[in-house]
Amino acid sequence: MDLAQSLSRAHPMNEERAAAAMRADAPVLAPGHVWLAGAGPGDPGLLTLDALAGLSQADVVVHDALVDRRVLALAGPQARLEFAGKRGGRPSAEQGDISNRLIELARAGKRVLRLKGGDPCVFGRGGEEALALKAAGVPFRIIPGVTAGLAGLTAAAIPATLRGINRAIILAAGYGADADGVDWGALARTGQPIVLYMAMRNLAKIADALMRGGLPPNTPAAIVVSATMADERVVVSTLDRVAADAQEHQLGAPSIIVIGNIVKVRERLIDAVRMTESEAAR
Ligand code: SAH
Repeated sequence: MDLAQSLSRAHPMNEERAAAAMRADAPVLAPGHVWLAGAGPGDPGLLTLDALAGLSQADVVVHDALVDRRVLALAGPQARLEFAGKRGGRPSAEQGDISNRLIELARAGKRVLRLKGGDPCVFGRGGEEALALKAAGVPFRIIPGVTAGLAGLTAAAIPATLRGINRAIILAAGYGADADGVDWGALARTGQPIVLYMAMRNLAKIADALMRGGLPPNTPAAIVVSATMADERVVVSTLDRVAADAQEHQLGAPSIIVIGNIVKVRERLIDAVRMTESEAAR
């Protein structure tokens, strides 16, 4: 069975993607090598061609909980899927164990694809795994991915930067018992929009800290749940209400939260998208 057949077997609509994975200059995932790749936020259309080439060649795909099922369905028929990730902030596998597993698989001569949600090196421990592979002398490469913090904005029709509104965008992680380790007041004082990852649990505390740092309570905010996945949801709010709204709408993980004036543009953009769609329908 050739590559195109194997990919289309996994999913009948995949011929086109199979062809993309077979492009003439596609990199080769050699036995004993590891690729640390990003799977993007969910929609398989946001995979890179290199990650797709990795999926089609890998003997083992070691993946996180966040990697969308539609992406895993693109793995070749020879690929074994191995779950190694963390759920809900609770480690279900220790980081050292994951790195050791990658090293073990590579030394056994496997073609290893380590697949992570979003970009492997944005709050994804890709850096740590790369260092461990380097120390062990295992050949590897890193394949970037579309990070949820940026794709989530675009999915919600919120531009990450807009002339006249912002010239920087802050990506911050809100995990940890008190979301400590970050000077939220200092981030607030930049006046630049902030995109929070892993922040649901600490959202009330973070919002308070940002307001104490000087961000007005009515600063626009949005929560994007399951960006580009089948159950995507967007809730628009304000800084002082965002934690309460998240609770009220029972919004869960995975979610990003964006705080800043870029959120205001959403309404106008959404109108424009609707207008274009209805024009096209005519
Ligand atoms: N490496 C990933 C981030 C991993 S940290 C990346 O670059 O996107 C996990 C956090 O990412 C989640 O708690 C959530 O805040 C965010 N996240 C990942 N996928 C998401 C999605 N599809 N929609 C919304 N947030 C997502």
